Amino acid sequence: MTTRFTSLTSIQDQLRSGSLIVAEVVDHYLERIEATRDLNIYLEVYADEARQQAKAQDQLLADDPQQLPPLFGLVVSHKDVICLKDHGVQGASKILDGFESQFTATALQRLIEAGAIVIGRTNCDEMAMGSDNSHSAFGPTRNAANPEHVPGGSSGGAAVAVQADTCLVALGSDTGGSVRQPAAFCGVYGFKPTYGRISRHGLLAYGSSFDQIGLLAHSVEDVSRTLQVMAGPDEYDATASQSEVPDYARDLPASAKKIAYFPSAFEHPDLDPEIARHNQAFVDRLREQGHTVEPVDFDYLDAIIPAYYVLTTAEASSNLSRYDGVRYGHRSADATTLLDTYRKSRTEGFGPEVKKRIMLGTFVLSAGYYDAYYAQAQKVRRLIYDRTRAILENYDFILMPASPGTAWKLGDKQEDATAMYLADIFTVQANMAGIPAMAIPLATHSNGLPVGIQLMGAPLGEHELLAFCQNL
Ligand code: GLN
Repeated sequence: MTTRFTSLTSIQDQLRSGSLIVAEVVDHYLERIEATRDLNIYLEVYADEARQQAKAQDQLLADDPQQLPPLFGLVVSHKDVICLKDHGVQGASKILDGFESQFTATALQRLIEAGAIVIGRTNCDEMAMGSDNSHSAFGPTRNAANPEHVPGGSSGGAAVAVQADTCLVALGSDTGGSVRQPAAFCGVYGFKPTYGRISRHGLLAYGSSFDQIGLLAHSVEDVSRTLQVMAGPDEYDATASQSEVPDYARDLPASAKKIAYFPSAFEHPDLDPEIARHNQAFVDRLREQGHTVEPVDFDYLDAIIPAYYVLTTAEASSNLSRYDGVRYGHRSADATTLLDTYRKSRTEGFGPEVKKRIMLGTFVLSAGYYDAYYAQAQKVRRLIYDRTRAILENYDFILMPASPGTAWKLGDKQEDATAMYLADIFTVQANMAGIPAMAIPLATHSNGLPVGIQLMGAPLGEHELLAFCQNL
């Protein structure tokens, strides 16, 4: 899909040379949003605010270009799980109907301070739970490459927002692949940083020990430039890493890398054979470029999804207990007692997938079953974490498919939740191990839909990973 703008650097060059003004950039994206209404990408568009900010930047461009902030001219969207002060946020759920954020998420705040213009909030699976955006209370988002097909999830709106040229960079969240899998389905870059690299303050919590804010863009460079601003310690998030943020724009000396891949993944029976061929061609290309690409044993692939769904439903059942009809959003109109308020508000407010996960999570945490499920899944996570990090002591990166197949038809996998869950088999490992990972657009399938592949890097190895992807 061709887009008018492909990188912030080219936008800024044109702005500086006077061949473009910020108002034109914003108008272009607002027009694209109008033209793509049928794809159901946005839940809310901030047209007036965006135009006003564009005007202010154009003024600065004319009067005092030295004062321009680093990300001037950057138009971003935020997934409906990232708070923006005085604006609605509801995790595409009815439970937060009418709720407005009291503060802006740290990551988004830093972007705004650096000059980014926020154009709207994007649709997603309810509370970021899902793999195809069909669990939104506001209807599914559709893939711009073929609107009969899903965009992936849960950050489906964010992926199509970039794919369909309605913003330059989209903020998503990634608990088990929700940035990378939709990026692969939509033919854009999707990046999840190391756990803790970006503050989670102001991100609606799903599985707190897995969640990270991530980015979707047309170029690695735009990912680097926005990450540069968003990353770093935050007094509001104790899990945010204290380690210094490197200068991601600094060139790293090009060198031959050691890359691991798992035959258990590359030869997985569920992997689409055409995708498998593209993956193999990519391996060949890396080898031709002088990199070492080696098969490595990884025995836990089939344990990843079961462990992930035990752990994340457990965390979700606890995190979502705050939506009780008293403190935030929707309150049932016909409840008479406190318990009734809880029960009816939650029954009315949450959709079926979220309810299922709350019940599952409550079950695995209950006294009689905790050891059998939750404690076991924690042990499996530890094994995966240790093995993944051990591999990354010997290798620079791990190469993985992004998804077993291309974007499926809207409505498929609705009857079979397990099939939907298995679509995350290649993305969850990075969240289990807390490591950075990038989905890279790779090819177009003979069915016309995009194919992506994924590279995972060492903990806090964003700089190396981004530099490598940049030079591919
Ligand atoms: N599809 C996965 C899930 O439903 C991942 C979601 C996410 O990363 N937010 O849990």
